[in-house]
Amino acid sequence: MGTSLTSRFTPGLGLVLAAATLLVAGRAEAFCRSTTCTGDCARDENECKTTGAKLFWPGMCVGYSMQKDGTVNLSMAQVRKAISKTFIAWTDIVCDPAKPDETATIAFSLLDDVACHKTEYNEDKGNANIVLFQDNKWIYKGIDNTLAKTTVTFDHETGEIFDADIEINTAYNSFTISDQNVKYDLQAVVTHEVGHFIGLDHTLDSAATMYAGYDEGTTEIRTLEQDDIDGACAIYPPSRKATCNPEPRGGLAYQCSDFKPPGDDGCAISPGSANGGGGLACFSLLGILAGLGRARRRRSSRPRNSHEGGKARRPDFPGSDRASALRSSPRAPSHNIFQSSRLHVNSIGS
Ligand SMILES: [Zn+2]
Repeated sequence: MGTSLTSRFTPGLGLVLAAATLLVAGRAEAFCRSTTCTGDCARDENECKTTGAKLFWPGMCVGYSMQKDGTVNLSMAQVRKAISKTFIAWTDIVCDPAKPDETATIAFSLLDDVACHKTEYNEDKGNANIVLFQDNKWIYKGIDNTLAKTTVTFDHETGEIFDADIEINTAYNSFTISDQNVKYDLQAVVTHEVGHFIGLDHTLDSAATMYAGYDEGTTEIRTLEQDDIDGACAIYPPSRKATCNPEPRGGLAYQCSDFKPPGDDGCAISPGSANGGGGLACFSLLGILAGLGRARRRRSSRPRNSHEGGKARRPDFPGSDRASALRSSPRAPSHNIFQSSRLHVNSIGS
């Protein structure tokens, strides 16, 4: 990662070198916590935001769900295994080697798969912290040099995280799972995203998982470095008082909030229905509607094309997106993985 460090931070190279010196001399904290400040925020010598409330999950246990359709080029069983490992990497973190029994107070539970295939937070309904694959389009900036994106919704005043969703850009990138012939390692990339998911921002420590760049063909960031551990322990110290309830805010939602089944007869369908929370009166209707939903998705799904041999897939895109995709250079050696935070202005409980 040394090369990308130099090229990425050319304007601030002196700063990077200074930080490296400190690391040799003793322990220098390089990790950054995400804050409620968005846009052009003041930053310290480590490029950490210095304004806004720091983000955190209030509870000890956070539930997440896989989007049920996975991705066309990898088996769902493989994907599940790889994604589980990314959350496990941030679990049972020993903060002080002298106290191996005391771990960071953050853990994760894999909840039921969900049908909702988008990033959203619903203040008045159920929610899901979703890991989903964007096979057909990437609506964000950096079409083919952004591998993944985590959107965190939080209380604007306190920094409490309400919801987090991880999207993986499989529309423009070939992800691999195996230890051999690695291209973009799914586990490595998502381990970085889980760092954002728990409230960490990018670090200048180029060895850390939370460094902003990922080098193609590598798997090193599957495992945490000391800087990542320090970051997780700063947000979730072992001494923190927190209870365990992995249910998303408002209950687990199987469908997106705007899901409108055709022929809805007025029976209110609660987003919590996947967990039996939707009300018995709608039970039979839900079965039918679930079937309709599947049929609609099948019709709208695109042909499944594989892109083995390293050739980038060219998704069938409308006008402008397609043009920019084709203009882009074939492959850069290093890719940005970035976080974007969505501000939840109407904070709950305030
Ligand atoms: Zn990132």
